[in-house]
Amino acid sequence: MRIALGVCGGIAAYKACELVRRLTDAGASVQVLMTRNAERFITPLTLQTLSGNTVVGDSWELASDHTIQHLDLARDLDAFVVAPATANILAKFAQGFADDFLSTFYLAVTAPVLVAPAMNTRMWLHPATQDAIRTLRSRGVTVLDPESGWLAERENGLGRLATPETIVSAVLRAARRGASLKGKKVVVAAGPTREPIDPVRYLTNGSSGKMGYAIAAAAARRGALVTIVSGPVDLPPPFGTRVALVETARQMREAVVAERAGAHAVFMVAAVSDYAPEASPQKLKKTGGPLTLVLPEGPDILAELGRTKGPEILVGFAAETDDLIANATKKLTSKNADFIVANDIAATGLGIGSDRNAVTILGKDGSSVTIPEGSKTEIAEAILDRIFGPDVP
Ligand code: C5P
Repeated sequence: MRIALGVCGGIAAYKACELVRRLTDAGASVQVLMTRNAERFITPLTLQTLSGNTVVGDSWELASDHTIQHLDLARDLDAFVVAPATANILAKFAQGFADDFLSTFYLAVTAPVLVAPAMNTRMWLHPATQDAIRTLRSRGVTVLDPESGWLAERENGLGRLATPETIVSAVLRAARRGASLKGKKVVVAAGPTREPIDPVRYLTNGSSGKMGYAIAAAAARRGALVTIVSGPVDLPPPFGTRVALVETARQMREAVVAERAGAHAVFMVAAVSDYAPEASPQKLKKTGGPLTLVLPEGPDILAELGRTKGPEILVGFAAETDDLIANATKKLTSKNADFIVANDIAATGLGIGSDRNAVTILGKDGSSVTIPEGSKTEIAEAILDRIFGPDVP
């Protein structure tokens, strides 16, 4: 596994030592690339000693026989991570500047790219930086968000480099090269639905869409052709996926039923509203008394997919606050799904809205596999491993 680690000139540059050590421990060959300013914070010799590879600094252009070094290095790479990434490098990557080695290298890389920004809170929140982040995300770059904490300039705030564990596990995940779902169609319904009450009000739920989007991203990494039928969420489309936006349960049903044709697997991760009011065409006015809403039952998409099941693998999710396994097992049969992923939302800090989760996967063969707490990306990988088998390169 070949990993390129770009190091920029911020105080967090010293943390690159830990990253090199951990990546090397995980069996990666790490090629460090440093900007000129990074060399003011930490010496190339340190990173060279830790990585066992010659560090590429910014004076590469002086070595005349190395003028196409950036192209050579970029070839045959499994992942490129920049940590710490400064506001400067993010802006350069977003705009396509190529005025130093690192930014030139970025343009030549076709492997997955990850950036772990670290900077002062105001710099991070500045619209210029946020615009760059949005651009990079929309291009498929994985942004490992900075965390809150005590910053070098003796301020408490957002901007601290993500932890080494977060960065290393994201890099190793991105570097995997399996293609076990290559060319297969996968449909993922994700996020909440939004059921209008009148032109300005609606009923919805707290689903963030993160679990569904993580499954979609993981399937895309394995080579699947992924469509996300998505309710309203605040998430960028993962690299290599197509998003069909919907609002109501009815619209979600239409889209999922249409997309299902020819699918290898359908994941109903969405928190679909079970009930939807008849929307009033006019804004409801106060009457001085209580408001009664009649909520007819809406479509049960998973149950319909189960009733009319073809060869596709049908996976449902069950978020429960009590009797998790008993309720999920019932769902497996009543909805005729191949798998139900049971999610205990009573567990503190996990599940809805959170970045982490822990699940049990029930199969219609009676199997039950528990996935311990992890990031939603890790959980998504484990779910796909269980359903499709491991994705070995
Ligand atoms: O029993 P329940 O409806 O809560 O089961 C949850 C599973 O069913 C999830 O996979 C969810 O996406 C799906 N679902 C659905 N249509 C609904 C409600 C839930 O497809 N109206």
